[in-house]
Order: sequence, then C-alpha cells, then structure tokens
Amino acid sequence: MDNIVIFGAPGSGKGTYSAALVEKFGYNHISTGDVLRAEIREGTELGKIAERYIEKGQLIPDDLIIDMLADVYDTMREGPGVIFDGFPRTIVQAKALKDMLQARGEKISVTLNLIVSEDILMERLLNRAKIEGRSDDNEETIKKRFNVYYTQTHPLIEWFKKEGVLSEFTFKGDKDLMIKEIIEKVESI
Ligand code: ATP
Ligand code: MG
Repeated sequence: MDNIVIFGAPGSGKGTYSAALVEKFGYNHISTGDVLRAEIREGTELGKIAERYIEKGQLIPDDLIIDMLADVYDTMREGPGVIFDGFPRTIVQAKALKDMLQARGEKISVTLNLIVSEDILMERLLNRAKIEGRSDDNEETIKKRFNVYYTQTHPLIEWFKKEGVLSEFTFKGDKDLMIKEIIEKVESI
C-alpha cells in the first residue's frame, strides 16, 4: 500500500491537498490535528492533555501522538494507502513512523513538501480563523506555531532527503496546478 506523508508549515494546504488525493486515489487520511480536535470535543483524557498544548501553539508530547497514530493506522490497512497529514512533526516522530511501518512490512512511499511563502500562510490562517474559529488561529498563536514549525519540524526536510523520499512543490498562486503536480507525482510512485 502507499504511505504518503504530506508536509508543510501551518496553513500550507495539507488538508486541502490530502482531500484531493483521497478523492483521486481512495486513500485513507490521518490528520493528527483533526484527531486531537475530535478528542478535545469528546472530552477524552488525551483530549484534555492535548488542549493545553494546542492552545499555546505547542506540540503535544511525542509518545502520546505516536501511540495514537499506530492505533489509527491499524484500522486503515485494508485500503489502497494512507496519507499522514500533520505527522511526523519531530525527528523522534519521524523515526517512530519509520519503525512502525517497518514492523508492518511497509515504508514511506513519498513525502510531499508544500512550500508556501510566509505572508500567504499568515493571510490564509487569519482568514480561516474567521470561518472555523479554531482556538489556535489567532495572530499570536499562529506566530508561535510558525516558530515551532521552523525549530522542530522544518529540520525533518533533511531527514526525508536522506531517506530518499522527499518531493517538493512550490505554490505559485494556482491551487489546481499544485493539485495536478501532486497527483502526477503520486501516480509515478
Ligand atoms: P494546518 O492544518 O493549517 O496545516 P497546523 O499544521 O498548524 O495547520 P494541525 O495539523 O491541525 O495544524 O495541528 C494543530 C495542533 O495540534 C498543533 O499546533 C499541535 O499542537 C497539535 N498536533 C498536531 N499534530 C501533532 C503532532 N504530530 N505532534 C505534536 N502535536 C501535534
Ligand atoms: Mg490541517
């Protein structure tokens, strides 16, 4: 099966392009952010812990997210593939993903790195704040999330490169063109 990592800064369009890939290829989609927000809504133990970190724009601890991810992945093994959206976000998570897949005879097929300029990212997130009302979509928390992204998550690009799975896509103002390029890449794996 295909194991696709979709990677990029907050607001880079991970959810949007994941949806396009789900529609085209019938993949299952794991968005760790969506799973955590559902846990918060349901008031679970994990949700209570996650809420404290998300509101501050910080990452939730690696061990919590890694356990959760493996459980969700195991419900999706029958389909054509899985898209990992919002995971991994640290080197520890990346190594855990590699081990988790290896233990199941699987591997990362490709990582799609979405490159978008920071002013477009900020504009999109502030706009989304008005529509979705996410607790972490305010200017102060967004700045913290960018900072967390650049310090903890961005270094993963080198790791993906070393693993030989990195593929990069630069947003040039046209979402449909970006979708076309991403689909072509996924068709070639
Ligand atoms: P976007 O969805 O627009 O790309 P984003 O990447 O910041 O923006 P989510 O992926 O929804 O948003 O994540 C929201 C928050 O959930 C993060 O700021 C973090 O607190 C928590 N979170 C999500 N995934 C992880 C992860 N893999 N490790 C640790 N924390 C996570
Ligand atoms: Mg998202």
